[in-house]
Amino acid sequence: MRLGYALHNGRAFIALAHGQQWIDFSRVLQSHADQFPWLRLHPQPTVVDLLENIPNLLRTLDSWFTQLVKAGEIEAYHITGQMQFSAPVTRASKILALGRNYRAHAEESGYSVPDEPIFFAKASSSIIGPGADIVYPEGVQRVDPEIELGVVIGQRAKSVPEEKAMEYIAGYTIVNDVTARDMQRNDIQKGKPWLRSKSFDTFCPIGPYIVLTDEISDPHNLELTLRVNGEIRQRSNTAMCLFKIPYLIAYISRHMTLEPGDVIATGTPEGIAPIHRGDVVECTITGIGSLVNRVV
Ligand code: MG
Repeated sequence: MRLGYALHNGRAFIALAHGQQWIDFSRVLQSHADQFPWLRLHPQPTVVDLLENIPNLLRTLDSWFTQLVKAGEIEAYHITGQMQFSAPVTRASKILALGRNYRAHAEESGYSVPDEPIFFAKASSSIIGPGADIVYPEGVQRVDPEIELGVVIGQRAKSVPEEKAMEYIAGYTIVNDVTARDMQRNDIQKGKPWLRSKSFDTFCPIGPYIVLTDEISDPHNLELTLRVNGEIRQRSNTAMCLFKIPYLIAYISRHMTLEPGDVIATGTPEGIAPIHRGDVVECTITGIGSLVNRVV
């Protein structure tokens, strides 16, 4: 199944797909509000509200779908016509990103391969959705896009063991870890953190939606391709990740609690190169889709 936050005819809602057909799940929730008392606190629910309030999300969504089909009601919720996806997680979420988690990228950047994960934060105010513009900041000399597989946390995770870590994942999405590279390099040289060079407004495109875990049997075998104006810049496979997802969740959750809707961007492969105003950046991951943003 796929879960997104979409706009259609001027209305924002949770969109859910089982197969190719999307339904308006916000309307399903509202039509059955007596079964979802938490809706009183979140009358316009977001995807993160859903993750926070529905335990066993996959099983619950699947049984809702089956019920609606059986009752002959599903068609009433179908979305017809163009819908525009927004970022599937909101600004309340925490975005953690991995540095140097692909050997070839660490080497092209002039660094050795780390012996334990290097993770940093991107400010959640930098999140944008598919189709939104990446704004090139004034005074910055070089901006690079970075395609990354994003792991979306489905339930609170604190000090979870590696063998149980996958149970805490709601699904997967695409993250473009946009970076002010000249600023990052200068800051590293001066021993300063990476936060500001990674967190300009619009520097975290996410989407187009979350593919839930039932559709991705192996997140460590997904092809990643980043194109700029149609030309391939990065092409690799998540199999090349140095630290795997269960290890990352166990490691990070020993340091801080992961909350529903938090996203871990699992690092970028080699092929880093700058973008300029007017460029169109397209990040594609097999089994998920494409995240497209223009630079202005
Ligand atoms: Mg990155």
